[in-house]
Amino acid sequence: MSEMSNATSASPPIMDRVGRLVAGFAAVGVDGLLVGTEANRRYLSGFAGSAGMLLVTPQRRVLITDGRYTEQAGMQAPDYEIVIHSGPILEQVAATVTESGVRRLGFDPGTTTVAAYQDLSERLGEGIELVAMPGMVETLRLVKDEHELAIMRRVIGMADDVLAMVQRVLVPGALERDVATQIEHEFRTLGAQKTSFDAIVATGTNGAMPHHLPDDTVVRAGEPVVVDIGGIVDGYCSDITRTFCPGGRTARFDEIYSIVLEAEEAAIDGVAAGMGGREVDALARAVIAEAGYGDYFGHGTGHGVGIDVHEAPRLAETATDTLQAGMVHSIEPGIYLPNWGGVRIEDLLLVTADGAEVLTAAPK
Ligand code: ZN
Ligand code: ZN
Repeated sequence: MSEMSNATSASPPIMDRVGRLVAGFAAVGVDGLLVGTEANRRYLSGFAGSAGMLLVTPQRRVLITDGRYTEQAGMQAPDYEIVIHSGPILEQVAATVTESGVRRLGFDPGTTTVAAYQDLSERLGEGIELVAMPGMVETLRLVKDEHELAIMRRVIGMADDVLAMVQRVLVPGALERDVATQIEHEFRTLGAQKTSFDAIVATGTNGAMPHHLPDDTVVRAGEPVVVDIGGIVDGYCSDITRTFCPGGRTARFDEIYSIVLEAEEAAIDGVAAGMGGREVDALARAVIAEAGYGDYFGHGTGHGVGIDVHEAPRLAETATDTLQAGMVHSIEPGIYLPNWGGVRIEDLLLVTADGAEVLTAAPK
């Protein structure tokens, strides 16, 4: 699927998301939550600015930000009271928490510095307890709503279109760096805000490093080239990998490629709600191990994708996540041979009740 429209999407269902968050407060014993990361702020309020904090209580939704964002906050977060701070943000946070009557305030220990914790705890004083609540908003973000899926389909279709361009320009003699520049340019031309990570274009032995950054390496005929790319539209990421063999496939390439493809398809066929991330990983890993390349697949089989390009769930040997309908995640096995190069194939899937829908459409 491919869609080039830049039309503004309908508003996100903010009140549904807030309602689901607040519904979880009683079980964990908090009566308010502070939300500080950009991704979580955006998910819960619609505000896409780079600075600010949300306070969510059963009665109030407050976005505290600074004067640069007065207008943007009002437009993007109509379901929130906007409070502009002029002094330190935590001074305003403490005042808003106090006036809201919150007694047990949840915060995310994974994204709060020790300095911020100490500062806030002093400002709140006696009578208001700070309660560590890791990952409350991330848990809500695991299952995508229709609004999110519509955006993700657009940004994933865009990545398919960019890959079609890559296939045309990735010829013997091309420089990795130039191909990467064209990838960035194409994403922006098609309407992406930017790429979701620095594009990977990894030729020959560079491809044996799963996260090689493009340099002046020249693409040579018969060498594998790993291309891993993604864009951002309305705050949501895509992530797709294809491996090419410019100038014509070699027997070696065909051999390795067919193993990786078989591993990828085994995992894709196995995905369904209720499967463990570890079980799906094992499906791909078994195919590669049986072919004798088990030592050359050194990363997990997949990860969730959404506002962050790497988010939960994890699909890996050590993963503890269970797949649920509505999750979007990658399947991306690879084989990396130090003296030859790498092959990785990555698609994005939407988990459904009885299987999965493959969202990426680029040929492989
Ligand atoms: Zn990727
Ligand atoms: Zn990925």
